[in-house]
Amino acid sequence: MAASQAGKHKVVVIGSGFGGLFGTKALRHADVEVTMIAKTTHHLFQPLLYQVATGILSQGEIAPATRDVLHKQKNATVLLGEVTGIDLTNKTVTSELLGRVSVTPYDSLIVAAGAGQSYFGNDQFAEFAPGMKSIDDALELRGRIFGSFELAELGAARGENVDDLLTFVVVGAGPTGVEMAGQIAELARRTLKQDFRHISSRQARVVLVDAAPQVLPPFGEKLGEYSKKALEKAGVEVVLGGMVTAVDERGLEVKFKDGSTRRIDSVAKIWAAGVQASPLGKTLAEQTGAELDRAGRIAVNDDLTLPGHPEVFVLGDMISLKNLPGVAQVAMQGGKFAAKSIKADLAGKPRPQEFKYFDKGSMATISRGKAVTTVGKLRFTGLIAWLMWLVVHLAYLTGFKNRVTAVLRWAISFLGRDRSERTTTLQQIFARQALEQIDGGATGLVSDPGETERLLEARRNELEEQAAKEARLTDAGERGVTAH
Ligand SMILES: Cc1cc2nc3c(=O)[nH]c(=O)nc-3n(C[C@H](O)[C@H](O)[C@H](O)COP(=O)(O)OP(=O)(O)OC[C@H]3O[C@@H](n4cnc5c(N)ncnc54)[C@H](O)[C@@H]3O)c2cc1C
Repeated sequence: MAASQAGKHKVVVIGSGFGGLFGTKALRHADVEVTMIAKTTHHLFQPLLYQVATGILSQGEIAPATRDVLHKQKNATVLLGEVTGIDLTNKTVTSELLGRVSVTPYDSLIVAAGAGQSYFGNDQFAEFAPGMKSIDDALELRGRIFGSFELAELGAARGENVDDLLTFVVVGAGPTGVEMAGQIAELARRTLKQDFRHISSRQARVVLVDAAPQVLPPFGEKLGEYSKKALEKAGVEVVLGGMVTAVDERGLEVKFKDGSTRRIDSVAKIWAAGVQASPLGKTLAEQTGAELDRAGRIAVNDDLTLPGHPEVFVLGDMISLKNLPGVAQVAMQGGKFAAKSIKADLAGKPRPQEFKYFDKGSMATISRGKAVTTVGKLRFTGLIAWLMWLVVHLAYLTGFKNRVTAVLRWAISFLGRDRSERTTTLQQIFARQALEQIDGGATGLVSDPGETERLLEARRNELEEQAAKEARLTDAGERGVTAH
């Protein structure tokens, strides 16, 4: 680890996602020492996770190593670990990696830990319907999707009924669900159509379910209707106004407003409905009295700081502020705003007062050559929207290498009918469940609470010594003595 430059203003950034990375990068010319703490080694471009899950892109293309992204930024250090505690009084962040505890002190803190999947209180659904928030999720889903076709081929050869293996259900008709459903349909109808001998992949059923009355609610009724029709044309069955009330290994149950229920037999199910902000929001709320909304998002001041803590910024998917949406631009602009405020403090200048989000528009792809895009009051559909989507995603994908390979992969998948990333392993499909069953204590995955306490005690002593030193200096100053 690079030697710490004593005396420099210490900024700790939690998270290497859009908010954390853009905040860190915006501090590259500042006279500060930045420590970015994140639980993964990569920066994840979540909007393209569905392409990893459906075999178009590799995980490396959407998740470059954070160390590599920041290797030229000499004032930034990357610390791998899961943040388990934030102490606003002693100004420390505690993180852990495989039982090793780190306590990192800060002068300014940027918290951008994002959001996880929400099953609306039914976490047991996760076992049978994984969400799509991480590379692990996307690879597990890839394994389950391609694996279902394999099992169907095997079953059909034995004369078994394989309808549930050839039925794919995506829950949630927001952009992620729409993109996922569209791509599974395309996979079945184009990519795999010549690959099997006992099943016809084209017969696969892809069902998109949502409790809302329309597809893509934030895009408005007209684009929602366009998207629904385009999905149906691509072979997706759209079921609206239906709430998923039960999920098991072989299917799920949907309940409608009139009280009727419908069971859909399906082995591969994907959960793309609902988000829950990082639990770090709760830690911060408990220490500041800031409110949490139902999705666990913390209410922040207009300048993204916490009440009574102008040194702590919270941003991105973790916050509730003026109904800002949970999108990448909110996090990126928030990260830059926090960096600007820190730089203003250091320069002795007034901070920007209010975080103002500049909405650059929204987009969602439906299938090859079809998308919907909104920019201000303008609405685009079809090929032009899809080309806009292509250009924007390429522009924001981190790293030149990744952009080049992504273009090649897209050419293979969208001009041709192939997919380069169809490899699946048993590890991908089952490792999450195996990990959940591991006894952390026996494997040394869980930290020693004594070590955490010792490190925090050391920090408390350090702060006490610092305060005593400052008091002595003030005392000496008041008595007209020059301290050396
Ligand atoms: C499948 C999917 C598709 C999406 N598509 C779009 C889209 O098309 N357009 C769009 O604008 N937005 C899209 N979004 C939303 C967008 O990705 C988020 O709004 C954005 O990532 C939020 O940025 P963030 O920095 O707040 O959080 P994130 O980018 O999620 O980053 C959070 C970071 O914190 C780290 N972290 C979390 N907890 C801890 C902890 N305890 N300790 C250490 N590190 C921690 C994570 O590892 C991660 O590095 C999509 C999201 C998903 C999941």
